[in-house]
Amino acid sequence: LVSRKNQQEDTIVSIGDIQVGTGKPIMIAGPCSVESYEQVREVAKALKEAGISVMRGGAFKPRTSPYDFQGLGIEGLKILKEVADEFGLKTISEIVHPGHIELAADYIDVIQIGARNMQNFELLKAAGDARVPILLKRGLAATIDEFVHAAEYVVSRGNKQVMLIERGIRTYEKATRNTLDISAVPILKQETHLPVLVDVTHSTGRKDILAPCAKAALAAGADGVMVEVHPNPAVALSDSAQQLNIEQFHQFLSSVRQSGLLK
Ligand code: PEP
Ligand code: MN
Repeated sequence: LVSRKNQQEDTIVSIGDIQVGTGKPIMIAGPCSVESYEQVREVAKALKEAGISVMRGGAFKPRTSPYDFQGLGIEGLKILKEVADEFGLKTISEIVHPGHIELAADYIDVIQIGARNMQNFELLKAAGDARVPILLKRGLAATIDEFVHAAEYVVSRGNKQVMLIERGIRTYEKATRNTLDISAVPILKQETHLPVLVDVTHSTGRKDILAPCAKAALAAGADGVMVEVHPNPAVALSDSAQQLNIEQFHQFLSSVRQSGLLK
């Protein structure tokens, strides 16, 4: 169903009045984790000022170590909703449990399925039964074919509002946290009719190359870019090394906008 052979025209995903996949790329920004009301509010204010309408923030965090911050859970989703309502923003947050899909829709506008859960088939089925847009991340070591089949799980249950997001894959290269597979963008655009985005933060894990990677993604045809922003990355409870502070975010955004690839 997700194949271009089955449907020629691009799928447009609607996040409220924001449309993804129309040829006008979007920027999604926000903290790695929702840590507090004040933290999210500070980021939301900066996004609003910068003309960004979609905010991300993790409430259920899939961490490598069980001793690391696991996220605020439902409380985090409530914070996202409260802040988003104040600033008129749309929100994206990761859900990790099939049983939370329905409830999440009360608080957030887009459900993210994380890289570690790309082949959690029960979660994909639950996402397919929902009528909420899904942002599906490519698995840590997933082939493009596996990624496309994961999307098929969602769409085959009737939820056609699916966006794909490349977030880097695991290779031998250690200069970046993951290897940004830029070729996945035109391949996914060619082989499917779904919007394709690129997460520059998790794919590179390096603040110093976010802008060129975002430009490369957009030049390759991406329908959007995701980036992590935190008021004070040094004290962030997750991904401290790779989140931009607000000033760096403004610089990043103006650099990407100067390319003319993002409005
Ligand atoms: C995230 O975007 O918060 C995240 C955990 O990313 P990924 O699933 O791509 O590792
Ligand atoms: Mn992160």
